[in-house]
Amino acid sequence: MLRFASLASGSKGNCLVAEVGGTRLLVDCGLNLRDAERRLARLNLMPSDIDGILVTHEHGDHACGAFDFAAAHGATVYLTHGTLGALGAEGKVIEGVKTVILEKKSLTIDGMEVIPFTVPHDAREPVQFVLSDGAARLGVLTDIGSPTAHVEQTLSGCDALVLECNYDVDMLWSGAYPRWLKERIAGPFGHLDNGQSERLLGALDCSRLKHVICAHLSQQNNRPELARAALARAMGCEESWIGLATQEDGFGWREA
Ligand SMILES: [Zn+2]
Ligand SMILES: [Zn+2]
Repeated sequence: MLRFASLASGSKGNCLVAEVGGTRLLVDCGLNLRDAERRLARLNLMPSDIDGILVTHEHGDHACGAFDFAAAHGATVYLTHGTLGALGAEGKVIEGVKTVILEKKSLTIDGMEVIPFTVPHDAREPVQFVLSDGAARLGVLTDIGSPTAHVEQTLSGCDALVLECNYDVDMLWSGAYPRWLKERIAGPFGHLDNGQSERLLGALDCSRLKHVICAHLSQQNNRPELARAALARAMGCEESWIGLATQEDGFGWREA
């Protein structure tokens, strides 16, 4: 059985937990140590229950707490060469923490299959993940400027998807952000808007999907109902069926 939950989702911090049998991995840890520990308790987990942390890329909202958590609780950090180099340059790598370099192939960590896949985003060597217990597949996709054929192929046929809906195009361009930042967010190495996520979801094989959750919503440039409506259009389902990952609460346990 594969189950998953989120501790937080958004530009102030991202952290998801996936569990197969007795193996629990975090996808990103963009929370400080205390906050991560407190939020794990909400999911009835102890920090020592976490075996490893898969880091998608070096941006602070994904990686700021990864090494602190791993050092405090004996977890292994899994990341690409590029992400390790970028975090090292920022002084965020803690000596003595066990690290495993992710290659462009799947690996199995204590019964959980982890498939890293490359995405276009303005980081050194960003990846996102599909996680599996050998039967059900959970696809996680945030922090990507534009979907690629590789991304579509990798996410097709998943049982659960956590999908970035970062911004609404009109809200972003009419909003208060400086022009350079709007261009970065909307650019090919920025983030997905609701419409891009809708089109991506519409292009996937959704026949097995039991969960679709919008994630990494901008608090300034998006509204939950817009994101949900976009993904519901792609699925041809009720908006209430589409899940929502929030900054403060993430979302509770779901079974893929
Ligand atoms: Zn992010
Ligand atoms: Zn990022």
